[in-house]
Amino acid sequence: MLSVVIPAFNEKENILAVVSETADVLQGAGIAFEILLVDDGSQDGTFEAIEAAAGADARVVGLRLSRNFGKEGAIMAGLANAAGVACAVMDADLQHPPALLPAMYKLWQEGAMVVQGVKSSRGAESRIQRALANLFYGMMSRFAKVDLRAASDYMLIDRKVVDILAGLPEKTRFFRGLSVYYGFSQAKVEYAVKPRQAGKTTWSLTGLISYALGSISSFTALPLQITTFLGLVMLAVFVALGAQTLFNYFTGNAVEGFTTVILLLLFIASAISISLGIIGHYLAKIYEEVKGRPVYVVEKTVGLKRNM
Ligand code: UDP
Ligand code: MG
Repeated sequence: MLSVVIPAFNEKENILAVVSETADVLQGAGIAFEILLVDDGSQDGTFEAIEAAAGADARVVGLRLSRNFGKEGAIMAGLANAAGVACAVMDADLQHPPALLPAMYKLWQEGAMVVQGVKSSRGAESRIQRALANLFYGMMSRFAKVDLRAASDYMLIDRKVVDILAGLPEKTRFFRGLSVYYGFSQAKVEYAVKPRQAGKTTWSLTGLISYALGSISSFTALPLQITTFLGLVMLAVFVALGAQTLFNYFTGNAVEGFTTVILLLLFIASAISISLGIIGHYLAKIYEEVKGRPVYVVEKTVGLKRNM
């Protein structure tokens, strides 16, 4: 059986469409399936829509989280409760075309453990968004050695990978990166991102930036070395200016150099602040992880036959 995990946050108008389209596609392809909708603390009656869908079709299962935990938490809640031998993860807004599922399933049957949906076009995006996305993916592949260019959260993964992800102790999750990070045999399926079916995206630019920073720091500690690098630069400046200053002192003209003092002060202050900021970011990460709070809390379920 294939489990299709769908995180949904304020997606009332999309539930019916995404469920019926997914069910039609999978039924048409002769694939046994369950659709696991995770209501990520929606305020718009998404769970009522899920309950209605589950009432109409026994293959539909719903989970409601106790509050909005974010997409990553919702995906994890879905994976942890999925029963299938393979799990697909898909957006609720039909930007990830369900029509692709049979092709992904086929690649999985042929032995791929992780089947990535790859964006052939990124859909409607502003130039800034695209530039930031490229910067992010560039940093991820250079520092963290996971190539996520064009990758998306549309994926189909084997039970083995699901169990690894669900069993991870870490709290800052980056599903897309994690599923690729653990290796296994990978396969790719291209798709064009469609416009949202209904509703609005809940991602703001600042939200995306902090998501990107969090994802980078949960994969690599390399930015911490920027501190070391800045220290080395300051050391080089010290050696050069120190020699000059001493020379001036012993030759008896040591009064000038106020400009140098101002510039040095500014340079040192910004270098120290940046370093502290980076260290603080990782410290906050450690704090989050050490607290060990759950990534999601399930409030209620509908149609779930298994014990939680
Ligand atoms: N989502 C979620 N929790 C959140 C934000 C989003 O479960 O806090 C879900 C949302 O319902 C959708 C998917 O994540 O199914 C992608 O969200 P969205 O379409 O807003 O993002 P975009 O397509 O712009 O990346
Ligand atoms: Mg979307």
